[in-house]
Amino acid sequence: MALPRTMMAIRTWGPEDYRLEEVPVPEVGPGEVLIEVEAVGICASDVKCWHGGGHFWPSDDGPGYVEAPAIAGHEFSGHVVALGEGAAERHGVALGNRVVAEQIVPCEVCRFCRDGHYWMCQRSWIFGFKQVLDGGMARYCRLPRESRIHRVPASLSVGAAAYIEPLACAWHAVDRAGIQPDDTVVICGVGNIGLCMVQIARRQLAGTGRVVALGTRQNRLDLALGLGADVCIDVTRADAVAEVLALTGGYGCDVYVETSGNPDGVTQGLGMIRKLGTFVEFSVFSRPATVNWTVIGDSKELNIHGSHLGPDCYPKAIAALADGTVDVDRLVNGVYPLDRFDEAIREAATGSVMKNLVRPI
Ligand SMILES: [Zn+2]
Ligand SMILES: [Zn+2]
Repeated sequence: MALPRTMMAIRTWGPEDYRLEEVPVPEVGPGEVLIEVEAVGICASDVKCWHGGGHFWPSDDGPGYVEAPAIAGHEFSGHVVALGEGAAERHGVALGNRVVAEQIVPCEVCRFCRDGHYWMCQRSWIFGFKQVLDGGMARYCRLPRESRIHRVPASLSVGAAAYIEPLACAWHAVDRAGIQPDDTVVICGVGNIGLCMVQIARRQLAGTGRVVALGTRQNRLDLALGLGADVCIDVTRADAVAEVLALTGGYGCDVYVETSGNPDGVTQGLGMIRKLGTFVEFSVFSRPATVNWTVIGDSKELNIHGSHLGPDCYPKAIAALADGTVDVDRLVNGVYPLDRFDEAIREAATGSVMKNLVRPI
């Protein structure tokens, strides 16, 4: 079937200036794959970027991550509609296959790529932010030769397929915590990623220990309870540090994962984590977190682990969605056509809904 020559796309021009525009359908070169996008999730990072968030746009601090205009969107899946020379063999895909590409397209030549840490690739190309790497908010999306492509089973809902990327990110962060049986694991923040982390932590504890979810909205804390949290604490109403210390005989939690994006979540975590505990930092902050580093060293000898993207987690995220052990369908809220993107992202920005999807077709 011949592809159309043009398509409609949402392109990032500047803060709160994302435009619906007609652009050429990309052509594929050697090793490249063209997919017809079925849906794109709107991520907290998309909301921050659209709002004009700090490191995305040029400022006194530097040029900013976005190279405008780019087609937005990094949480997407779709069906293969064209294959460049050698692409089928390279990626193990055929026309018609349902696939997802990891959000990062590594360069394969920098020191991090060469030693296996592709997710920390020096150039850090993520779909949807740069002219060289258009994202999924268009009918078609070109996956470059260095893309990391995974097959997606037909059984996954469109929402679950769009959720593979954030689930993989959540999984890597929880893996970084090195959860042990009987641990008390605190997940600070119950947005889309936090609610995935709750489920993954519950799964890794395999019926032992305790998952504690911290949040500021009762509806999200209720979701956390339904998805496997044993204890939920609204930090605006209760003294979360005192409650977690009380739950753990005064020792504190074994693991604390910060995914709230609020710098107060860091100080709170350092207050409730036990000595020799593991603190995983996932979220992106809009302002610096100021903490007393003495707690990390002299007082508690903590393990502080960062977490970025979802390396090597796509296959297990896809498997868990397929076998139903992770549930994201109840987190999907609205499905919007491209020409209602503004409405979709404004609603996501209010925080009143979980995941909004855009369907370019
Ligand atoms: Zn995302
Ligand atoms: Zn690289």
